Amino acid sequence: MECKHFKEWLPVREPSDTASEKEARKHARTCSTCARLLAVDDELEKTLRNDFRRTEAPARLRTSVAMIAEEPPRLKRRPRWPWLAFPSAALPALALLLLVFWPLGQGLTSIESVARLAEKNHLAGYTMEFQAGAVMDVSAWFRGRLPFEVVRPDLSGRGFEFLGGRKCSLGEEDIAYLFYAKDGKRYSLFELDAEDVQVELLEDKIYRYPVRDCIVEIWKEANRVFVLVA
Ligand SMILES: [Zn+2]
Repeated sequence: MECKHFKEWLPVREPSDTASEKEARKHARTCSTCARLLAVDDELEKTLRNDFRRTEAPARLRTSVAMIAEEPPRLKRRPRWPWLAFPSAALPALALLLLVFWPLGQGLTSIESVARLAEKNHLAGYTMEFQAGAVMDVSAWFRGRLPFEVVRPDLSGRGFEFLGGRKCSLGEEDIAYLFYAKDGKRYSLFELDAEDVQVELLEDKIYRYPVRDCIVEIWKEANRVFVLVA
């Protein structure tokens, strides 16, 4: 495996595909760039499985989401023309990884565009508009500033220190930017209204995209999309 193949493999990594996993690890032993990406990815995989996914949406929100789900699938009347199907190398995962893109609209039209914009934000050196200690109710702080309800994942019991947050943007969309730290590393968590992301994301699927030296993980929970950059 070479760097190019490694970087193609990483976003569609399936731990059950042991042959590819072995090839990738073999390459990482001889390539420091990919070794670093793999280490970050391993760490993120663990983090997402153990920490972020434990956060449940509040009961009231879950009820309203369930009710919306019984209505026609999408509230926005966007044409749903499949433009590009992005299959995994592993056939059983193909259905899971089938991303549908829309040809209309600007901005967050692909996993790649979301990931690249998030990485830019992560490295832009944004300052916090509020610090964790000063704001008890993060959802309330964002109310009136953003047109959707922001819910901060509580990760304090698992070594993640919540530092603060701010309003930010991703493409043309207003989003929440939450700052976290763990083991001296800085994590940027962006929270978006799922309606603003013009990519069909499946629940319970983590979309992983390497951008330069960062790894961007994107997942959807209820009516929000989270983008984590490490
Ligand atoms: Zn490499």
